[in-house]
Amino acid sequence: MLRSLKSRLTVLYVAILAVILLAFAVALYFTARRDLYGDFEDSIRRQARGFAKFSFENFDRLQTDPILFESYLGELGASGAVFDASGAKLFGPSGAPGFDRARAAEDGRFRAEVGGKRYRFVVETARDPTGAEYRVVFGIQEERVGRRLERMLLFFAIFIPALLLIAWYVGRVFVRGALSPVDTLRKQAESIQRSNLSQRVPIPKTRGEIRDLAITLNDMLGRLERAFDQVNAFTSNASHELKTPLANLRGEIELALEREADVAAYQRLLASGAEEVSRMTHIVDNLLLLAQLDSKQAILRRDPVDLGEVAKQAAAELEPIGADKGVTVRGAMLEPGVRVSGDEVALRRVFMNLLENGVKYGREGSEVKVTVWREGSSARVEIADTGVGIPAESLPHLFDRFYRVDRGRSRSPVGHGLGLSITRSLVEAHGGTITVASREGVGTTFHVTLPAME
Ligand code: ADP
Repeated sequence: MLRSLKSRLTVLYVAILAVILLAFAVALYFTARRDLYGDFEDSIRRQARGFAKFSFENFDRLQTDPILFESYLGELGASGAVFDASGAKLFGPSGAPGFDRARAAEDGRFRAEVGGKRYRFVVETARDPTGAEYRVVFGIQEERVGRRLERMLLFFAIFIPALLLIAWYVGRVFVRGALSPVDTLRKQAESIQRSNLSQRVPIPKTRGEIRDLAITLNDMLGRLERAFDQVNAFTSNASHELKTPLANLRGEIELALEREADVAAYQRLLASGAEEVSRMTHIVDNLLLLAQLDSKQAILRRDPVDLGEVAKQAAAELEPIGADKGVTVRGAMLEPGVRVSGDEVALRRVFMNLLENGVKYGREGSEVKVTVWREGSSARVEIADTGVGIPAESLPHLFDRFYRVDRGRSRSPVGHGLGLSITRSLVEAHGGTITVASREGVGTTFHVTLPAME
């Protein structure tokens, strides 16, 4: 019930108006009623005094001619009687109310029914020209005041619902007009699917919340589109990377099946197959790690880790591999006691990946050096090489998944383009940042900054 904003707004608005109108009508009714009865009573008292005067002026005639009395009262639509000081009735029709001392004493007014009609009476004390005291009871039918009040109620009964009906209609039209851009937005947003994520919702010309909402929706669609594009590219790259070793493996298996060969030949084929399988395992392991880092499911320890120590060990491990290629790997300045809170295995991987790249993309006689130092509350790492360098246009994509600089030419024999994206994810998982600077033919420098422990 009332699920739509349109209905809720309209009902709320009509309800508020109804409360205001009713409060206004009630206040008006009671004020009018008080005033009308007040005026009515004043007029009765005035007429009562007139009646007393008439009675005294016509004292003798009235005693003999009661018709005169009745015609006087009949003309006024009134009822009344005159009593002497002891309370005995002097004149008055037989149906007129009796004189009640208690009532007279209280506040000099009362209501009574005469001939089936309601009258309002007042009790006045009057003196005749000789100074004798009399009581005059005089009343007029209340009907007239009642009728005016009834007319007022009838007016309210028609006017208030009619006004509410108009307000409801106008309110609905107004709310519908105000909310129609939301409807348009909703319809457009509804039609956007995975296949047409490049579509955008129209942006209303008038400034305001709905325009802001449309802009926010479009920004969100932009982010979603980029994320989907990345996922698509990632899936196709991953499939592509796995396709080559799988095709190699298949070729080798088919070769082994086609012709008979000696044990040594089979062993060679199997050894080559095992190499392809380990290549694929390596890719799949890396993909799994990336997925876990993305979804923050990778379980990273939080231990105090001495970065200088980790750098030293990594450099020592890679030194002989570098030496084979004619590349020197060395720890240049490893400040002791630069500690971070993190996972030692993951941090070792960061150093190994960066140093390995320095060796892989090094040249005969080039050098890779690692420096670790503390700067304020940060632990800083620099891994600089004098290798082949990276073209400027590749730098913005360097940390993208499966990105390889030499991709255009041939498949790199040494990597799959996942190393740097894993490195960045690991650094970020430790709350750090990584940047790169490079000049082709001169060398490459990676900077890692991590929050240091006190
Ligand atoms: P890969 O596994 O292919 O090495 P990475 O993600 O580690 O993938 O590196 C991506 C690309 O960046 C590499 O293909 C390489 O061309 C380039 N690259 C990375 N480090 C260096 C470096 N120290 N010197 C020159 N090029 C580098």
